[in-house]
Amino acid sequence: SYKVGIIGSGVAGLASAIRLAIAGHHVEVFEANAYPGGKLSEIKLGAYRFDAGPSLLTLPSLIDELFELAGENPAQYFTYQKLEINCEYFFPDGVNISAHADQEKLIEEIIQNTAERPENVRKALTKSQLLYEHLSELFMFSSLQDPKTFVSRHAFKAYRKLHRLGFFQTMNGANASTFDDPRITQMFNRYATYNGSSPYKTPATMNIIPHLEMSLGAYFPAGGMHSITLALYSLAKRLGVIFHFNQPVERILIEKGHVKGLMTGGLSLDFDRLVSNMDIVNSYRKLMPDLKAPKFLLNQPKSSSALIFYWGIGKKFSQLDLHNILFSRDYKAEFEHIFQRGAIFNDPTVYINITSRYQPSDAPEHGENWFTMINVPNNQSQNWEELITEARKNILDKITATLGEDIAPLIEVEEILDPRTIESKTSSAQGALYGNSSNNLFAAFLRHANKSRRVKGLYFCGGSVHPGGGIPMSLSSAKLVAKYFR
Ligand code: FAD
Repeated sequence: SYKVGIIGSGVAGLASAIRLAIAGHHVEVFEANAYPGGKLSEIKLGAYRFDAGPSLLTLPSLIDELFELAGENPAQYFTYQKLEINCEYFFPDGVNISAHADQEKLIEEIIQNTAERPENVRKALTKSQLLYEHLSELFMFSSLQDPKTFVSRHAFKAYRKLHRLGFFQTMNGANASTFDDPRITQMFNRYATYNGSSPYKTPATMNIIPHLEMSLGAYFPAGGMHSITLALYSLAKRLGVIFHFNQPVERILIEKGHVKGLMTGGLSLDFDRLVSNMDIVNSYRKLMPDLKAPKFLLNQPKSSSALIFYWGIGKKFSQLDLHNILFSRDYKAEFEHIFQRGAIFNDPTVYINITSRYQPSDAPEHGENWFTMINVPNNQSQNWEELITEARKNILDKITATLGEDIAPLIEVEEILDPRTIESKTSSAQGALYGNSSNNLFAAFLRHANKSRRVKGLYFCGGSVHPGGGIPMSLSSAKLVAKYFR
């Protein structure tokens, strides 16, 4: 067994710690913050509680798997319910669509409210399933650095269907030709934002994402998303993992091409192997400044970031659910602003997540906890103060137009998270939510591997390396790292 140091306690750092402890290694986690979870943390403002970052849980079985691996019953530590309404969509023309998880109900809702034909929606859902069946093993759960991946059963299954898997079209191109009604195209285009990309650039292969939510399901964990962090953190501790909080790692120590240990608080500590859960760009830049970095991989364009207003709202709105989207009138212009201009469109798509609808203790009796978010460019040193002031006004106007009520006077508490603070709180390069963007066909192959080619005994996990951002992919990265320890 090895003495393993893990740098960072994001969801992938926690999952790596759990897997390696189960495998019998001595594991110590070093975390810069005073708390575990990284982006998957929470904030409390008076009587209101908010999940700080992720709000949508898909593939919860990947979390259960960690408890099962440890010989525990997951339901004893981590419970969740499947949503019946995946999202409430509000279009600028006043149309509201409740996205039922039940597909027949969803189709009924769509044809009642729009000009869409039911067979087109069925076709899109079937296509998404086809993509998932042919590509998920390959791109989500396998190592692309292992040549065996490309001669596997999964790979050959994909090669046979290559022409149908959407590599040669954009997501919007595919959706606009599938649907008659532009509102349904917009609904399906939104899935590009699940990995911080633009539907006008990302390949149609990304139409794999709706299957995750619309067929496999969206879930709400009891206690909110932060309960994932709490559950994994306590599991890791039961397995003997040692945590050091407020302990930023300053250097990865390397001797003759081999990991020797790490430096924290000016002290050198010996480790046989290290797993960095720190963003890959900063892992090289800050922890290994003397090592030749794979510049081409690190310089790939980053995903979008977010501007979030955590608002305690002193009123209840029955037309809203857990996930709510208030769509922009011009989606194309919105993404052009984010990815081409590094700016924020004046009519942004507003996402409101209200966990108190499922977890009443998250807000006082008379109110609701609104996590109000828009997609914004990653941090390129824009004038954020100005952008935030302007965006706050545009967001409030949009909400007023949609709900028919000015909510500004109802805001009882407020905190703001922007690309700069996402960067400073989690070390995410440019405050990107999902590492590299998937705005080109080759993005999947241009993420850094989970194992270092240059340094023996050094591994990488988390949303900025293979297979990519988001909780399921981050958990998958931890599994791929653990495989190397066999
Ligand atoms: P991170 O969460 O990035 O954490 C890294 C940790 O490492 C941090 O705790 C940091 O302090 C620590 N660290 C860094 N450097 C050092 C160092 N040198 N020494 C010690 N510690 C260090 N995903 C979804 O699946 N669904 C969603 O709905 C969703 N929405 C999102 C919304 C927002 C606003 C954000 C920010 C993200 C969202 N994501 C979502 C993405 C998801 O949060 C991330 O992909 C995932 O949490 C990344 O986990 P990670 O393991 O890479 O680590």
